[in-house]
Order: sequence, then C-alpha cells, then structure tokens
Amino acid sequence: MSCLEANTAPRREDRLGTCIEFGGLVGDIAAPFCEGCLKNRHRAFSQGTICQLLPALAILTSLRDTAVIVHGAVGCGGAVHSLGASVRLGQWRSGDKNPKGALWLSTNLNERDVTQGGEEKLRKAILESDRRYRPAAIVVLSTCVPGIIGDDIDGVANGLRDQVSAALLPIHCEGFKTKVMATAYDAIFHSFLRYVVDGRDETRFPIYDADAAIAVESIRRKRLVNLMNVSSMTGPDQNELIRLLNKLGLEVNMLPCDAHPDAFRLAPFASLSVGVCPTHDDYFMGYLEEKFGVPFVGKQMPIGIENTGTWLRHVASRLGLESTAERIIAAEESELRTALAPLLPRLKGKTAMLSAGEIRTLSTAVLLQELGMEILAVRPYHYDEFGAAEIERLTEINPDIRLNVATAQPFEAVNIINRAKPDLYIGHNSDNVWAAKCGAAIMPIYGTNAIYSGYSGAYDIARRIHRHLANTSFNEKLSKNVRQPYRESWYAENPYKYIKGGELSA
Ligand code: SF4
Repeated sequence: MSCLEANTAPRREDRLGTCIEFGGLVGDIAAPFCEGCLKNRHRAFSQGTICQLLPALAILTSLRDTAVIVHGAVGCGGAVHSLGASVRLGQWRSGDKNPKGALWLSTNLNERDVTQGGEEKLRKAILESDRRYRPAAIVVLSTCVPGIIGDDIDGVANGLRDQVSAALLPIHCEGFKTKVMATAYDAIFHSFLRYVVDGRDETRFPIYDADAAIAVESIRRKRLVNLMNVSSMTGPDQNELIRLLNKLGLEVNMLPCDAHPDAFRLAPFASLSVGVCPTHDDYFMGYLEEKFGVPFVGKQMPIGIENTGTWLRHVASRLGLESTAERIIAAEESELRTALAPLLPRLKGKTAMLSAGEIRTLSTAVLLQELGMEILAVRPYHYDEFGAAEIERLTEINPDIRLNVATAQPFEAVNIINRAKPDLYIGHNSDNVWAAKCGAAIMPIYGTNAIYSGYSGAYDIARRIHRHLANTSFNEKLSKNVRQPYRESWYAENPYKYIKGGELSA
C-alpha cells in the first residue's frame, strides 16, 4: 500500500530507521546502522530537543497566499515569532514590497477543549480564515493536544471542502509522535501530494492561437525543473542555484519554501525534480516519480566545491547536457580557485567542529576539508542512509573525526568541545552559544542574508571563516568570565555516558 493512502506520513524512525543517539568516530556508525543496531536507542538523560512543529512552521509560514491554522495550545505557535524576519524577507524577495509576515492563527485549545474536544473550534477557524483572508490554501497543523484527545482534523477538513474556496490541507505534526524533527518534511509533503498535486493541467491558453501556445508551453516544460529549496536556504543561496541551472538552459519551478500552492500543481509537469538536501526532499520527489513519472536527482547538497560539481553533473546527465555542465564547472571552479588563493594559506591547518541538520553539517565539513582545514568533530541532528556518502568521505579523509549524533544535547557538546578544543565552531545559534562560552570562535552555519550554496557560497564561507578567525579574543575572554551550568566532574566523564548502548571512545 502506498504511504499516501494513509492520513499521515510514517515517522522517520519507522520509514528510514533514523537515529538521533550516537557517540563515537565517523567510521563507527555505518555498520551498526546497516545492521539495525541503532534502532530503539535512547538517552538516559536528555537536555532539550526540537519539536517537529518548528521546521513545519518554518516552511508553511513562508508559503504565499496560505493561511496556517495551528490547532492546539497557543504556545505551540510561539516559534512563528522567531521566524518573522525570514518570512518577511522571503515575501519581500518574491516581489511584495509591503510584506505582512506570517499569516497564522491558533485555535487556542484550553483545558475545557481537552475534555470536550476541539473540532468545533477548528471548524470555526477554517471558515473564518477563508472568509477573512480568501487564501489559496488553508493548512491545519495538528499538535500534541488534538493528537492525544483524538480530534479528527481530516474529517473536519473533508466536511468543509465544499464550503470554502481554499484548498484544505490537514497536516499531522504532533510533537510527541517522533523524536526526529525531519518527520515534519514528510508530513507536509504528504498532505500536499494528497490534496494539491493532482496532475490536472489547468493552464489556460488563448483561443485565437491555442496550438502555437500549447507547443511553446510544451517546449518550456522540457526545460522546466522542480528545484526543492529548504527553509535554511537564503535568498542568495536560491539565486546561486537558479543561476547555475539557468546556465544549463533550465527554467526553475521552486518549491516548497516561499512558493505559491500553484508551484505544487505545476510540479508533475516538470522534466526533473532537483533536490538540494536528500533528508528534506526524498518523500516528495519519490512520490512525484511514483505518481507522475517525474525523475529526480539530489543525493548531494550543493555546498562545497566537489559537491556542487557533482550536483550539476547529476542534473545534466538526466537531461543530456553533460558537455555544457563540464564547461560551466571548469569555468566556475577556475574563477573560484583564483578568488580563494589569498585566503587558503590563512585557513590551512585551522581546526573546526560543526553541528546542524544531517546533510548540512556533513557537506559543510567536507567543504572545510577542501579549504585545507581540519575537522575534529561533527554533530548532525540525526543520521540515516542519506548521510552515508558524506560520512564515508569524512572517514576516508580522517577516520578519527568524532561523531556525535544529537538533536540539541548541549551537555554532550560542551564535553566534546573541551576535549577537542576546535579553533572554530560552526553551528546554528542555539548551538554556537555553548561553544562561545567554551572559548571557541563561532560562525553561523545558516544566516538569513549570507550565502552558503554553490561556488559563490564556497567562496563566501571561506571569506567569513577567515574574518571570524582574525580576532578570537572576545570568546576567549568570555570563557574566562562565564560559567557553564555543569560541574567540573562532567568534563572528565565520557560524553556519551547517557546514550544507552553508546560507544565508549570519546
Ligand atoms: S511538543 Fe507538542 S505541545 Fe510542544 S510545541 Fe510541539 S506540538 Fe506543541
């Protein structure tokens, strides 16, 4: 049975055997993962995690002409406030010179609703959203409370489809359901595939010259590719990838972030889906191929010199554009190496530790190796089959790189930082703050206005690392004047002590 016949997407733990608890060296993870030994691990002590609602809200609030109803306690939508700046920026980049920010509502479930049910509140919220905003789509995001009390969000949506003009998309995103926040990507794509991507071609052609217009459109679609952006891709990142694909002569239908729901409707008519992160895109691209025969590529994240070249080659090979791709890659790499030449001697031998989502962490680590730096440790938020190729590459370069698979868990991070003592820590700000207090220089692995992808991204990462390492005295002094909340004895312990069945090498 296809997963799409069910109301909800399966958890990543079940679909991919995804693991979030591992401590050891990069070479230690492949065998136990393949043998299924990393399933059902847990931490006897866990410090923080990330609810799948956070990445879901990051994608959904960026969608154009779409209202997001968070069905749950009002606090579940609190993360939207931290996303406001990037949502506005995305709207501004899409041509809206008066961006209004995220369009979201909460059903504000309370104690009474927990005992009597929240379906009536949801029904009213859907009708009110449609009346007030007339959006192209209304997303109903289910959280823990309706999941526990058994609200039937699919039944409510189905009952209202004839009464509203918007497409209704129930999305099951209960935080308690999974420890792997990437499950949110599948939950979102699952609903779009069920309720929006129907393969109906509603393109309107002029009556006076319909045949010519159809022929032009058909030629355009042969060169049309779906570019799967992720919410941790900046506007400059998107422009860089579009620039490279345009150089190949391709036109881009970009989704899901910052997209209008119509971009999903157009997706089945593209010649190819191009992923930028297999962790993010595999569910959507896999089903688009299964349902509509649209092939896909995208095992690499185009961060790093070799990765970007491989990414372009894979796109080109599916469309018969190999020689054009080789010309583009040669020219781009030559320009990049000239630009990097003055920076490389200053980066050579500097040490780094990284943390973030699986593919981003590992791809950026590979890029740093390309820049002549030494990787001491990587901390991807989770691990599954998509990270295997990059882990293999890091193992070939240096099998002694520490690997800590952990979503949050700062107590493990500070222990490892104290042992490894990297010159630079590259992670999200929520991780970087701990490294800064340990005295390491820090750099965001994602920031809304910087560029990370493609050849321009490789140069800019090198330039920013050089700047961050030029003067590290602030964090060095900070480490002498702040206290971490851990006892000295913790730093002598094995950092993976609380992972049940964890490796012992630290
Ligand atoms: S864990 Fe549950 S209650 Fe908490 S924010 Fe996520 S969905 Fe809401």
